[in-house]
Amino acid sequence: MAETPAYQGKATMEKITALAKRRGFVFQSSEIYGGQSGAWDYGPLGAALKNRIAANWWREMTQLEDDIVGLDAAILMHPRTWEASGHVENFTDPLVDCKKCKARFRADQMPEESLVEKKCPECGGELTDTRRFNLMFKTYIGAVEDEANTVYLRPETAQGIYVNYKNIIQSNRMKIPFGIAQIGKAFRNEIVTRNFIFRTCEFEQMEMQFFVKPGTDEEWFKRWKERRWAYYERLGVAPARLRWHRHGPGELAHYAKDAYDIEYLFPMGWRELEGVHNRSDYDLSRHGEYSGKDLRYIDQENANERYTPYIIETSAGLTRTLLMLLCEAYDEEKITDKDGSDDWRTVLRFHPVVAPITVAVLPLMKKDGLPEIAREVRRELRADFSTDYDHAGAIGRRYRRQDEAGTPFCVTVDYETKENRTVTLRFRDSMEQTRVGIADLPGRIGAEIRAYPPPAPSPTVP
Ligand code: ATP
Repeated sequence: MAETPAYQGKATMEKITALAKRRGFVFQSSEIYGGQSGAWDYGPLGAALKNRIAANWWREMTQLEDDIVGLDAAILMHPRTWEASGHVENFTDPLVDCKKCKARFRADQMPEESLVEKKCPECGGELTDTRRFNLMFKTYIGAVEDEANTVYLRPETAQGIYVNYKNIIQSNRMKIPFGIAQIGKAFRNEIVTRNFIFRTCEFEQMEMQFFVKPGTDEEWFKRWKERRWAYYERLGVAPARLRWHRHGPGELAHYAKDAYDIEYLFPMGWRELEGVHNRSDYDLSRHGEYSGKDLRYIDQENANERYTPYIIETSAGLTRTLLMLLCEAYDEEKITDKDGSDDWRTVLRFHPVVAPITVAVLPLMKKDGLPEIAREVRRELRADFSTDYDHAGAIGRRYRRQDEAGTPFCVTVDYETKENRTVTLRFRDSMEQTRVGIADLPGRIGAEIRAYPPPAPSPTVP
């Protein structure tokens, strides 16, 4: 295995959390009431970033692939779904409590000696025995709170895909191999929510289930592993901060034939980002059994051969990807001001395809007709790009604000613009500036996005 690269240490969870709040990426849920643990709200920049990550994943999965279609299934599903999937029985975490300080731990994530000695790692108090705790949120539909009306908030989006697999084959004439992609909310009653938005009770997933003929599953598994790794590289994530983790026999989920996680080196260490799983024919066999419906595939091109497809799953957290990209993009850089003095800037080096704002348009001065021209330039750009407009404060300060929001391009309207309809195009990463005609701006920015990342490695890459 490759040696663990030293983390640059520029992004700490404290810095990321503070920046996220200061700039309106992520706020604590219900903050005015003291906050709600396990839930977070996404402000203007965060909502835009989340939507752009989702749109980029959706494009990669559905638009750029021949055989993957999309789905948007309901969060509430028939409760039998969760019996068939094994969640009612198996979706548990081992839980221990401290009798003294009431702290709660996941037994599989605490130091071995604390468990053996039954001693709280925080206060030294006595720990309870380990017990299994089901992570599904249970509620009731209708006015009567009884077992017959039980529903669960889905703990993963995947099951919505499995129960619709037959509908999609019939309505869209899909032929195996094919995939179904879905983005949506999932809920887990996590015992410990820590590290900002890394592990939360309400989160979003981007899942794709690929249905294949048994016997071809290992080949497809390999192919999807490669594609998912390449996806992160395309987003500009340094390969040195990505690694594979294969599930050992004790770790393998009840449904899995083989499973790998893509892990990312977060400031708190290596953690799972996405799971790529060979789920065998477990899911469709179980749903067939529990629903009484024949979910086997009929291969019309092969003498109507019937079989239960194997499923290769790629399961990424959308909100966890957002945290990863904040950490990956975060940089602090020493720069020299015009007067020769040293200064620092905080910059989020987002890939332009996910940056919340692609272009900010800034009039050099708040007078002499420059704001009017800047607004006109913005109007011309906004059909194609997400834009911002800012006229408050010195131009250098405004550039810093945009750097901190991760905006890859700034357009400055100055006095020369009035003479020859050209503007300054400033690049976030290099801080270089060049003159471009207003009419050429959309084409130029589009070309810059397609050519990104620039050939020189980002200074944050170890
Ligand atoms: P863990 O073992 O860390 O609880 P998991 O292996 O159960 O996670 P999966 O069920 O494979 O996770 O979920 C797929 C993806 O969904 C994860 O890789 C992660 O990105 C995301 N995810 C899972 N649980 C959470 C959560 N509580 N908060 C945020 N994202 C999550």
